[in-house]
Amino acid sequence: MKKEKTLVIIKPDGIQRGLVGEIIKRFENVGLKMVAQKMMVVDEEHIEKHYTLDPEWRRITGEKTIAGYKAKGLTPPSEDPLEITARILETLKVYMTSGPVVAMIWEGAHAVGIVRKLVGGTEPLTSDVGTIRGDYVLDSYALSDKDGRSIRNLIHASGSPEESQAEIKHWFKDEEIFDYALVSEKILYDVNLDGIME
Ligand code: ADP
Ligand code: MG
Repeated sequence: MKKEKTLVIIKPDGIQRGLVGEIIKRFENVGLKMVAQKMMVVDEEHIEKHYTLDPEWRRITGEKTIAGYKAKGLTPPSEDPLEITARILETLKVYMTSGPVVAMIWEGAHAVGIVRKLVGGTEPLTSDVGTIRGDYVLDSYALSDKDGRSIRNLIHASGSPEESQAEIKHWFKDEEIFDYALVSEKILYDVNLDGIME
Protein backbone atom coordinates (compact mmCIF):
# COMPACT_ATOMS: atom_id res chain seq x y z
CA MET A 1 0.00 0.00 0.00
CA LYS A 2 2.93 2.35 0.76
CA LYS A 3 4.32 1.59 -2.70
CA GLU A 4 1.18 2.43 -4.68
CA LYS A 5 2.07 4.18 -7.95
CA THR A 6 0.06 6.60 -10.04
CA LEU A 7 0.60 8.15 -13.45
CA VAL A 8 0.40 11.93 -13.80
CA ILE A 9 0.62 13.75 -17.13
CA ILE A 10 1.05 17.52 -17.14
CA LYS A 11 -0.91 18.35 -20.29
CA PRO A 12 0.33 20.85 -22.91
CA ASP A 13 -1.57 23.75 -21.26
CA GLY A 14 0.13 23.02 -17.92
CA ILE A 15 3.52 23.47 -19.57
CA GLN A 16 2.45 26.56 -21.55
CA ARG A 17 1.03 28.16 -18.39
CA GLY A 18 4.34 27.67 -16.55
CA LEU A 19 2.77 25.45 -13.90
CA VAL A 20 5.10 22.44 -13.98
CA GLY A 21 6.95 23.47 -10.82
CA GLU A 22 3.76 24.41 -8.98
CA ILE A 23 2.14 21.07 -9.80
CA ILE A 24 5.20 19.03 -8.82
CA LYS A 25 5.44 21.01 -5.58
CA ARG A 26 1.92 19.95 -4.55
CA PHE A 27 2.77 16.25 -4.92
CA GLU A 28 6.11 16.71 -3.12
CA ASN A 29 4.42 18.65 -0.32
CA VAL A 30 1.95 15.88 0.41
CA GLY A 31 4.81 13.37 0.85
CA LEU A 32 4.68 11.43 -2.40
CA LYS A 33 7.89 10.34 -4.13
CA MET A 34 8.60 10.94 -7.81
CA VAL A 35 9.93 7.68 -9.24
CA ALA A 36 9.91 8.55 -12.97
CA GLN A 37 9.65 11.66 -15.11
CA LYS A 38 10.13 12.64 -18.77
CA MET A 39 9.05 15.26 -21.30
CA MET A 40 7.48 13.90 -24.48
CA VAL A 41 5.61 14.89 -27.61
CA VAL A 42 3.17 12.06 -28.35
CA ASP A 43 1.07 11.14 -31.38
CA GLU A 44 -2.70 10.68 -31.69
CA GLU A 45 -2.46 6.90 -31.61
CA HIS A 46 -0.68 7.06 -28.23
CA ILE A 47 -3.47 9.28 -26.86
CA GLU A 48 -6.34 7.14 -28.17
CA LYS A 49 -4.70 4.04 -26.66
CA HIS A 50 -4.15 5.87 -23.35
CA TYR A 51 -7.79 6.87 -22.94
CA THR A 52 -9.21 3.53 -24.10
CA LEU A 53 -6.97 1.27 -21.96
CA ASP A 54 -10.01 1.07 -19.68
CA PRO A 55 -12.85 -0.42 -21.76
CA GLU A 56 -15.34 1.38 -19.50
CA TRP A 57 -13.81 4.85 -20.01
CA ARG A 58 -16.08 5.75 -22.96
CA ARG A 59 -19.27 4.99 -21.04
CA ILE A 60 -18.19 6.53 -17.71
CA THR A 61 -16.86 9.76 -19.26
CA GLY A 62 -20.00 10.18 -21.38
CA GLU A 63 -22.25 9.64 -18.35
CA LYS A 64 -20.18 12.05 -16.24
CA THR A 65 -20.50 14.73 -18.93
CA ILE A 66 -24.28 14.28 -19.19
CA ALA A 67 -24.61 14.47 -15.38
CA GLY A 68 -22.44 17.63 -15.35
CA TYR A 69 -24.83 19.36 -17.75
CA LYS A 70 -27.96 18.23 -15.92
CA ALA A 71 -26.61 19.33 -12.51
CA LYS A 72 -26.53 22.88 -13.89
CA GLY A 73 -30.01 22.61 -15.45
CA LEU A 74 -28.49 22.50 -18.97
CA THR A 75 -29.32 20.12 -21.83
CA PRO A 76 -26.39 17.83 -22.77
CA PRO A 77 -25.32 17.79 -26.46
CA SER A 78 -26.50 14.15 -26.64
CA GLU A 79 -28.19 11.61 -24.34
CA ASP A 80 -25.91 8.86 -25.69
CA PRO A 81 -22.71 8.60 -23.55
CA LEU A 82 -20.78 6.85 -26.35
CA GLU A 83 -21.63 9.52 -28.90
CA ILE A 84 -20.39 12.18 -26.46
CA THR A 85 -17.14 10.29 -25.80
CA ALA A 86 -16.43 9.74 -29.49
CA ARG A 87 -16.37 13.53 -29.89
CA ILE A 88 -14.32 14.02 -26.70
CA LEU A 89 -11.72 11.53 -27.90
CA GLU A 90 -11.23 13.38 -31.19
CA THR A 91 -10.72 16.69 -29.37
CA LEU A 92 -8.40 15.03 -26.83
CA LYS A 93 -6.11 13.93 -29.65
CA VAL A 94 -5.76 17.55 -30.80
CA TYR A 95 -5.25 18.84 -27.26
CA MET A 96 -2.78 16.24 -26.05
CA THR A 97 -0.58 16.29 -29.16
CA SER A 98 -0.46 20.12 -29.41
CA GLY A 99 2.85 20.43 -27.52
CA PRO A 100 5.13 18.68 -25.08
CA VAL A 101 3.71 16.98 -22.01
CA VAL A 102 5.49 15.89 -18.83
CA ALA A 103 4.80 12.30 -17.78
CA MET A 104 5.53 11.32 -14.19
CA ILE A 105 5.02 8.46 -11.79
CA TRP A 106 4.37 9.30 -8.13
CA GLU A 107 4.64 6.66 -5.40
CA GLY A 108 3.44 6.43 -1.82
CA ALA A 109 0.53 5.50 0.43
CA HIS A 110 -2.78 5.84 -1.41
CA ALA A 111 -0.95 7.58 -4.27
CA VAL A 112 -3.89 7.24 -6.70
CA GLY A 113 -6.51 8.65 -4.33
CA ILE A 114 -4.26 11.35 -2.89
CA VAL A 115 -3.28 12.62 -6.35
CA ARG A 116 -6.91 12.62 -7.59
CA LYS A 117 -7.87 14.64 -4.49
CA LEU A 118 -5.13 17.21 -5.13
CA VAL A 119 -5.93 17.38 -8.86
CA GLY A 120 -9.70 17.90 -8.37
CA GLY A 121 -12.71 17.12 -10.55
CA THR A 122 -12.58 17.02 -14.34
CA GLU A 123 -14.42 20.31 -14.94
CA PRO A 124 -12.47 23.30 -13.57
CA LEU A 125 -15.69 25.30 -13.11
CA THR A 126 -16.87 22.85 -10.47
CA SER A 127 -13.59 21.37 -9.16
CA ASP A 128 -12.98 22.26 -5.53
CA VAL A 129 -11.10 25.36 -4.43
CA GLY A 130 -7.64 24.31 -3.23
CA THR A 131 -7.25 21.65 -5.93
CA ILE A 132 -4.90 22.17 -8.88
CA ARG A 133 -7.75 22.31 -11.42
CA GLY A 134 -9.81 24.47 -9.06
CA ASP A 135 -7.02 26.95 -8.38
CA TYR A 136 -5.22 27.34 -11.71
CA VAL A 137 -7.72 27.10 -14.56
CA LEU A 138 -11.24 28.23 -15.44
CA ASP A 139 -12.75 26.04 -18.17
CA SER A 140 -16.22 24.42 -18.30
CA TYR A 141 -18.06 21.73 -20.31
CA ALA A 142 -20.37 24.41 -21.72
CA LEU A 143 -17.47 26.51 -22.99
CA SER A 144 -15.34 23.67 -24.37
CA ASP A 145 -18.34 22.01 -26.10
CA LYS A 146 -19.44 25.30 -27.63
CA ASP A 147 -15.95 25.70 -29.10
CA GLY A 148 -15.73 22.01 -30.08
CA ARG A 149 -12.56 21.35 -28.09
CA SER A 150 -11.37 19.38 -25.10
CA ILE A 151 -11.75 20.74 -21.62
CA ARG A 152 -8.41 22.27 -20.59
CA ASN A 153 -7.67 21.08 -17.12
CA LEU A 154 -3.84 20.95 -16.91
CA ILE A 155 -3.38 17.38 -15.73
CA HIS A 156 -4.20 13.74 -16.24
CA ALA A 157 -4.11 11.47 -13.19
CA SER A 158 -4.93 7.74 -13.02
CA GLY A 159 -8.42 6.99 -11.69
CA SER A 160 -7.72 3.70 -9.89
CA PRO A 161 -4.75 1.44 -9.03
CA GLU A 162 -5.74 -0.93 -11.88
CA GLU A 163 -5.88 2.00 -14.32
CA SER A 164 -2.51 3.28 -13.09
CA GLN A 165 -0.81 -0.07 -13.72
CA ALA A 166 -2.02 -0.18 -17.32
CA GLU A 167 -1.19 3.50 -17.91
CA ILE A 168 2.32 3.21 -16.43
CA LYS A 169 3.04 0.34 -18.86
CA HIS A 170 1.75 2.49 -21.72
CA TRP A 171 3.98 5.49 -20.89
CA PHE A 172 7.15 4.07 -19.27
CA LYS A 173 9.66 1.28 -19.75
CA ASP A 174 10.66 -0.61 -16.58
CA GLU A 175 14.20 0.83 -16.67
CA GLU A 176 12.82 4.41 -16.58
CA ILE A 177 11.23 3.79 -13.17
CA PHE A 178 13.50 4.14 -10.12
CA ASP A 179 13.36 2.25 -6.85
CA TYR A 180 15.05 4.40 -4.19
CA ALA A 181 14.57 5.69 -0.66
CA LEU A 182 13.70 9.19 0.45
CA VAL A 183 14.85 10.34 3.90
CA SER A 184 11.37 11.77 4.54
CA GLU A 185 9.77 8.32 4.23
CA LYS A 186 11.06 7.56 7.75
CA ILE A 187 8.80 10.16 9.32
CA LEU A 188 5.86 9.20 7.09
CA TYR A 189 5.96 5.44 7.48
CA ASP A 190 8.43 4.27 10.21
CA VAL A 191 6.46 2.43 12.92
CA ASN A 192 8.60 3.14 16.01
CA LEU A 193 10.26 6.45 15.00
CA ASP A 194 13.40 5.21 16.73
CA GLY A 195 15.95 6.80 14.40
CA ILE A 196 15.48 10.45 15.44
CA MET A 197 17.09 10.88 18.87
CA GLU A 198 20.92 10.69 19.09
P1 ADP B 1 -10.30 12.95 -15.80
O1 ADP B 1 -9.14 13.56 -16.56
O2 ADP B 1 -10.77 13.87 -14.70
O3 ADP B 1 -10.07 11.54 -15.34
P2 ADP B 1 -12.00 11.81 -17.91
O4 ADP B 1 -11.17 10.60 -17.85
O5 ADP B 1 -13.48 11.66 -17.78
O6 ADP B 1 -11.54 12.91 -16.84
O7 ADP B 1 -11.76 12.57 -19.29
C1 ADP B 1 -10.46 12.70 -19.81
C2 ADP B 1 -10.23 14.09 -20.29
O8 ADP B 1 -11.09 14.36 -21.39
C3 ADP B 1 -10.53 15.20 -19.28
O9 ADP B 1 -9.51 15.45 -18.38
C4 ADP B 1 -10.79 16.37 -20.20
O10 ADP B 1 -9.59 16.98 -20.65
C5 ADP B 1 -11.49 15.72 -21.39
N1 ADP B 1 -12.97 15.74 -21.25
C6 ADP B 1 -13.74 14.92 -20.48
N2 ADP B 1 -15.03 15.20 -20.62
C7 ADP B 1 -15.12 16.22 -21.52
C8 ADP B 1 -16.20 16.96 -22.10
N3 ADP B 1 -17.45 16.70 -21.78
N4 ADP B 1 -15.91 17.94 -22.97
C9 ADP B 1 -14.64 18.20 -23.32
N5 ADP B 1 -13.57 17.54 -22.81
C10 ADP B 1 -13.81 16.56 -21.93
MG1 MG C 1 -9.87 9.73 -16.41
